[in-house]
Amino acid sequence: MSQKLQAIRGMNDVLPDNSSVWQHLHRTAADVFGAYGYREIRLPIVERTELFKRSIGDVTDIVEKEMYSFEDRGGESLSLRPEGTAGCVRAGLQHGLFHNQQQRLWYSGPMFRYERPQAGRYRQFHQLGLEAYGMSGPDVDLELLALSARLWKALGIRGLRLEINSLGSNQARADYRDALLSYLRMHVEQLDADSQARLERNPLRVLDSKVPETQAVLVNAPRLVDHLDTESAAEFQSLQDGLRALGIDFVINPRLVRGLDYYSKLVFEWTTTELGAQSAVCAGGRYDGLVEQLGGKPTAAVGFAIGVERLLLLMEQQSVAVPDDAPQIYVVWQGEGAHMQALALAERMRNELKGLRLVVHAGGGKFKAQMKKADQSGASWALILGEQELEQQCVQVKSLRESTPQQPVDWSALADHLQAVLKNDE
Ligand code: ATP
Ligand code: MG
Repeated sequence: MSQKLQAIRGMNDVLPDNSSVWQHLHRTAADVFGAYGYREIRLPIVERTELFKRSIGDVTDIVEKEMYSFEDRGGESLSLRPEGTAGCVRAGLQHGLFHNQQQRLWYSGPMFRYERPQAGRYRQFHQLGLEAYGMSGPDVDLELLALSARLWKALGIRGLRLEINSLGSNQARADYRDALLSYLRMHVEQLDADSQARLERNPLRVLDSKVPETQAVLVNAPRLVDHLDTESAAEFQSLQDGLRALGIDFVINPRLVRGLDYYSKLVFEWTTTELGAQSAVCAGGRYDGLVEQLGGKPTAAVGFAIGVERLLLLMEQQSVAVPDDAPQIYVVWQGEGAHMQALALAERMRNELKGLRLVVHAGGGKFKAQMKKADQSGASWALILGEQELEQQCVQVKSLRESTPQQPVDWSALADHLQAVLKNDE
């Protein structure tokens, strides 16, 4: 029996009416990243499962229950990437990018997690990620935050809130872990099942729980910020001073720990109250231990990932203006000679007017039917070329928005004329 063909649950198509805002976001992001000297790295979507286990950590939502893992025909366990950092570090190690070097990198593309699909949470989603390697100071942390603030501004997004926290050094975190564990052991019956299961293996994970009962227990839990080592504390302070100096508002969220195991020192999220439970649109932090954990030399690293779908939902919610990608001009014609001339003129206009979006009617049909297509195309102007225009070497230029009379324009003057009317449309 044939089953109706449908996309996989939680994996979405982006239809043409929607893709212009995706393109706009990627263009704007690439410009802003480039403005700070970051360069693109393109990475495979599939990696060895082992890579994610070793980097993200065994006791995490992602590795325990969200990965799309499978055996390939050679019997090797592979996974669709659930995030970009592991692959980025793998590539950096493989190609020697970290050896006595600093790197400013960004990537984009689909990520895969077997989660419960809902608004702002999907099984295939997209991230724009940015990573800086070989720089340990809070100076580059500040650079990342300034860069992200600039991106929101460039996109016209308002009201995002920057939450920061410091996880401290590995030693400080180990001390804190003990303090937290003793506290949580006293309240174990009030914790949700997941948190209970993780308590002994990875108590910090509990801080990340979204379950209200667990959150309630955490209100009085010992706080990470009170257990920071002096270096982390000084760096955290210096970052805050920098943020104030650059005029970037922030709040300290002592319970922010992030979902992956590899973070240390700075962690941060840009959050919104406008998307319900899916509040984080960008999340990141410092992961100085990761490169070494994957077999490299100790390498300072900091980065973040933006949830593209969430950012786009927010832009829609805030009615942020995005550039139009509908055609500007639609050319209708009658007669074979006029058709050939229309094609030639169209090529010339595309040569002369940079960025022009022009459609030449295809598929034949009567004048009236062609004009209907012109109206439906979203174009603001129609160019009309019939026998008479062919003879007089002109086209009729007709507004599709206003009822002004059409106007003959000579072929030789057409580019200038279009340039002027299109400028007026902006
Ligand atoms: P959350 O707490 O919302 O599950 P996370 O901590 O798992 O997020 P990260 O792994 O840090 O998320 O990924 C960075 C960003 O990617 C998130 O802040 C979010 O914007 C986006 N993101 C993560 N998972 C999804 C998903 N399943 N669908 C859509 N966007 C996602
Ligand atoms: Mg998650």
